[in-house]
Amino acid sequence: MDTNQCILEALKIATDTKAFELGEHLLHRAPILFQEHFPGRKAVIIADRNTWNAAGEAVFGYMQAAGVPCECHLIEEEEFHADWPYVERLDNVLDRTGAVAVAVGSGVINDLCKLASFHHGQSYMCVATAASVDGYSSSGAVVTQDGAKINVETHAPLVILADVNVLAAAPKEMTAAGYADLAAKVPAGAEWMIADLFGTEPIQPAAWHVLQDVLDDLIADPAGTAAGNPDAIASLFAGLTLSGIAMQAAKSSRPASCTEHLFSHVLDMTHHRYKGKFQSHGFQVAVGTLTMCAFFDEFFKMDLSTLDVDACVAAWPTLEEEQQRAIALFKDFPVPMLGYTEITKKYNDRDTVRVQLTRVKENWPDFKAKLQAQCYTFEKMRALFAAAGAPTDPEQIGVSRRQLRSMVDLTQLLRWRINLLDLAKRAGIYDKLVARVFGKGGAWEID
Ligand SMILES: [Zn+2]
Repeated sequence: MDTNQCILEALKIATDTKAFELGEHLLHRAPILFQEHFPGRKAVIIADRNTWNAAGEAVFGYMQAAGVPCECHLIEEEEFHADWPYVERLDNVLDRTGAVAVAVGSGVINDLCKLASFHHGQSYMCVATAASVDGYSSSGAVVTQDGAKINVETHAPLVILADVNVLAAAPKEMTAAGYADLAAKVPAGAEWMIADLFGTEPIQPAAWHVLQDVLDDLIADPAGTAAGNPDAIASLFAGLTLSGIAMQAAKSSRPASCTEHLFSHVLDMTHHRYKGKFQSHGFQVAVGTLTMCAFFDEFFKMDLSTLDVDACVAAWPTLEEEQQRAIALFKDFPVPMLGYTEITKKYNDRDTVRVQLTRVKENWPDFKAKLQAQCYTFEKMRALFAAAGAPTDPEQIGVSRRQLRSMVDLTQLLRWRINLLDLAKRAGIYDKLVARVFGKGGAWEID
C-alpha cells in the first residue's frame, strides 16, 4: 500500500491539517514547510530533553540555516504530563515570543502546543518524534484539569512532518504503544457500529472509510513494527495520522476511541503507577482493547434473536435509579460526580430502549456477522500485541485482573457515548458477559 497516497487522499477531508510529509531523512524540510505555511512568522521550538536530542536540535539548525527567526523552549522536567500548568507555561511562551509553535515531540508536547496555539487563535507545526499515539493529527487535546481528564476541542496542526528514521529510533515501548493505540480502532469501530444501529451516533462514511478501509493492512506487520522496519513504522504512523484525520472529519473522537480508551482514562484519573511510573496511553489502551475483544468474543456466543424485549424494557431502570447507581459506584473516584453527569447525558427512556433492542433482535444474525467481520478475537489481538511488544496481560502494567474487573463498571458510565456494555445493560446480559470474561475459562479468569 502507498501510505503517502492514502494520506494525500485523507487530507482532502481534513479540516485543519493542510500538509503532511512522511518519509526517511526529512528533517531538512522543516524550514521549507514552515515558511510555506506560516509566511513571515517567527518559530518557537517546543521540546523536552529527549525530543531535543532526537530531532529538535537538528530542526533548530535547519531553521537557522534557512534564516527563519527561531527560538527554543525546553521543558526540563524528567516526567511531565498534559496538565493545565504546562499549558499556561506555553501560553506565556507564545505571549512572550509572538511566535508559532513547532512541537517537536509526541503525544504530550503535541497536546500542550495544540491547546496553547488554540488559545492564541493560531495553528502550529508538529515534528513527530515517535509513532506512539494517534493524537498528532486530531483536533482534540486531552489534558488533566482539576483531576479530571478532559478532551478539549481545538485544532489539529496545520503541518505535520514525520521523519521515519527519527520515529524508528524512538524507544521501542513508544512504538509498541502506538501500535496498540492504532489496533484499538478495531473494537472501537465495532462499538461505533452499535451506536450507529441505535441511532445515537450514526457512522459518518468519510470518517469511517478513511481509516477502517486500510486498518487491517496497516496493523498487519507487528513484528516489523517492533523491529523498527521503516516500511512498518511508516504504515503505523500513517495509520495514526489517518485516525486523527478521521476525527477531524467527524469532529469527534468517535472514529478512533470507545470503551477500550476509557480503561486508560480511569487509570489516568486515578494516577495509576507501576514500578513508580505512569504507564503510557498506548499500553493502557492495549489492556482496554484486549478486554473489549474478550467482551465481543463472549457477546458473539449469545443469541440475541430470541431476546425478550418486553422483559428487558420492564426491567430497565429509571434515570433516577441510574443516577443513584452512578453516585454509589463513583463514591471513591477522584471525580465523584463524573458517572452521574455522563449517565444523565446517556440515559435513554424505555421507549427508546425498546426501539434499540428491537433493532438488535431483528437484525441479529446479520448485525452479529458484521460486528464479527470488524472485530478481532481476543486471541488474534493478543498474538498481534505479543509480536508488537505491547502488553498482553494487565499485570504487565501493574493492573490486577480483579482491579480490571472493577474498572469495567466505571467504564460503562464514564462517558455519554453508547458502547457494547450499554447494549449489554439494556439486553440484561451485562452480568453474564462480565462473569464469562473474568470467570473460569474466561480471557481474564480471576483465580
Ligand atoms: Zn488513543
